[in-house]
Amino acid sequence: MSEIAIIGAGISGLSAGQILQKDHNVVLFDRAQKPGGLVKCDRINGNLFHRVGGHVFNSRNPEVLDWFWNFFDRDNEFLKARRNAKILFQGKLIGYPLENYLHQLDKAFVSDVLDDFLSPDYQPRNPFTYDDFASFLSGNFGKTLYEAYFRPYNEKIWNRDLSEIPLGWLEGKLPMPNLKEMLLSNVVVQEESEMVHATFYYAKEGGSQFIADRLSQGLNIVYNAPVSGIVQKDGAYWIGDHGPFDSIVYTGDVRSLDQVFPHSASASQISADVRNLPSNGTSNIFCETDPGDISWLYLPDPAIKAHRIIYTGTFAPSNNQGTDRHTCVVEFSGQYSYEFMCEQIKSLPGNLKPLDWNYEPNSYIVHIDGTREKIDAAKATLKKDNIHLLGRFAEWEYYNMDKAIEASMALGKELS
Ligand SMILES: Cc1cc2nc3c(=O)[nH]c(=O)nc-3n(C[C@H](O)[C@H](O)[C@H](O)COP(=O)(O)OP(=O)(O)OC[C@H]3O[C@@H](n4cnc5c(N)ncnc54)[C@H](O)[C@@H]3O)c2cc1C
Repeated sequence: MSEIAIIGAGISGLSAGQILQKDHNVVLFDRAQKPGGLVKCDRINGNLFHRVGGHVFNSRNPEVLDWFWNFFDRDNEFLKARRNAKILFQGKLIGYPLENYLHQLDKAFVSDVLDDFLSPDYQPRNPFTYDDFASFLSGNFGKTLYEAYFRPYNEKIWNRDLSEIPLGWLEGKLPMPNLKEMLLSNVVVQEESEMVHATFYYAKEGGSQFIADRLSQGLNIVYNAPVSGIVQKDGAYWIGDHGPFDSIVYTGDVRSLDQVFPHSASASQISADVRNLPSNGTSNIFCETDPGDISWLYLPDPAIKAHRIIYTGTFAPSNNQGTDRHTCVVEFSGQYSYEFMCEQIKSLPGNLKPLDWNYEPNSYIVHIDGTREKIDAAKATLKKDNIHLLGRFAEWEYYNMDKAIEASMALGKELS
């Protein structure tokens, strides 16, 4: 049995804590005053505000599902909801993903889309043979759909030129349909409810904070504890007065490793190597809205800076204080002022009324060429010093909660 410190009580740290404490003594540290990291929620006048996103849970990995449902009474504590996503495109609500709902679009526009597909220049390839995200999107979906939808929408989310984004790291994270699948979906019209990942689980009370709170039970967590300046004495690690620890699991930002381990030459070298990794923050404005049954509304219009509305009020009735109005989160990639967001939401549907807002400086990680190799090398180097990188920002991976859990399970096996 060894002594392990985990830095971060987000989903990665909490899952790792639960897994590792079976064989080790574990202490978690988080700078926040409650668990959850990105999945934290607060009640605002009785309404549930997801400070980032609108976290819902599901997984394709049965091992992850088994592990997760051990902590919960699935049928009594969770709702299973159907994904009902729409796109506000050319003034109409269109099904998601757009390429499967071409039959809902104007005839002239679809005619241009089909001209692209029938042109001799249209030669789609295996997605992962494209050099970058822009050439994949325009090559796979054709110029018309790219210019009208994929480019403006994705530029808003990623906040950069899409040709600067390599493609390989998005494998498995984004749908990458080919022409036959697109045409098939339009000819044999399939309801989204029949599609993979069409459903998700959501806590009846408390949203994703409920998940974090439950996963934190039985763990030794020190809150309000920003960790920096870890020292090493006689081969063991000390975090202030806490220690000695044999190993550290770090779930914070890999770019800040040098502040956390100022005496480690490896950490300072790694921070220098990864310092220029790009990431985006997210601004959210939490609103009351007219009730409806949409779960997500995507906003490709470049005139609106927000890129989606997440109707968290439709996920669970307890998320809304009253019954006549629902709640939602309008999400912007980047930092925007409350006043700017209030102006922007005036052009969105639902008679939105602002209730609160949040800016999370670190939410979307972006890969550039060589990112995965650098992170792999960093992990291998640090492992020799019993330091383990875990989670979305330490491993610089586009993890959802289930992938963060999967990574924690893999680390658990490694350290068992
Ligand atoms: C907009 C958005 C929407 C999303 N929606 C979904 C969804 O619907 N479903 C889903 O499954 N996933 C979703 N995700 C992904 C999900 O948020 C992440 O997979 C998950 O929260 C990552 O957890 P983590 O523990 O790796 O990181 P974090 O949540 O960032 O946790 C890291 C923790 O470490 C702490 N920390 C960092 N550095 C230090 C330090 N030096 N000292 C002390 N504490 C420190 C932080 O305070 C934080 O609590 C979404 C993400 C975003 C950005």
